[in-house]
Amino acid sequence: MDNIIVNIRNLEGEILQICKRINRNPKDIIIVAVAKTFTDKHIMEALKGGITDIGENKVQEAKEKFLKLKERNIIWHMVGYLQRNKVKDALEIFDLIHSVDSLRLAEEIEKRARAINKRQKILVEVNISGEISKHGLRYSDVLPFVEKTRDFPHIKVKGLMTIAPFYDNSEKCRPIFRQLKELKEKIQREKFEGVKMDYLSMGMTNDYQVALEEGADMLRIGRKIFGRRGKNG
Ligand SMILES: *Cc1c(COP(=O)(O)O)cnc(C)c1O
Repeated sequence: MDNIIVNIRNLEGEILQICKRINRNPKDIIIVAVAKTFTDKHIMEALKGGITDIGENKVQEAKEKFLKLKERNIIWHMVGYLQRNKVKDALEIFDLIHSVDSLRLAEEIEKRARAINKRQKILVEVNISGEISKHGLRYSDVLPFVEKTRDFPHIKVKGLMTIAPFYDNSEKCRPIFRQLKELKEKIQREKFEGVKMDYLSMGMTNDYQVALEEGADMLRIGRKIFGRRGKNG
């Protein structure tokens, strides 16, 4: 726990260095501190360290922390796989859902968001690497999917998300991040009404440096901020 603030300062320092080198504005980079398996106390410590955005990967776990931290000004991110039967709860918690990867899920979000008169911000999860074990739309399905979301007035597409495979050498993730950026630009050129490709959510503890170099503006960082997770994390 003592190290969380130090960890955040170190991370910010590294982000600053990279931004200087590649001429990006560090203010454009959002750190989403992924707090899965950690407690509301850990989150409080991260907030003290200047974190504003918290990521979770399970709705039930997020809900418990959300209720404890309700008075805090936190932007909540759902970064994990979202089951349709959890959408109702998810909409009450999350400002941004990073993991929308099917029409059926989008339809459920639309339905539930309409019921509470919310316009839910989402990212479309893309499985660039094509790993079968990973969620996410295939590259070629993303543009038609985004086009289709125009039928959903209670969903606002804000960008794309990907999870790179785990490599010992993070350089290997570079082509994946590059493709996600290209896809974002391709969708931007379509100028779909109501679609704003503001965010590229890519990069985790292992590979965020490369992601940043390739244009990430949302880094989802868990271990580098909160430390090692137990075996369930
Ligand atoms: C756990 C998780 C992260 C953070 O991973 P670290 O390796 O701890 O930085 C980011 N994105 C998703 C989707 C996650 O599940």
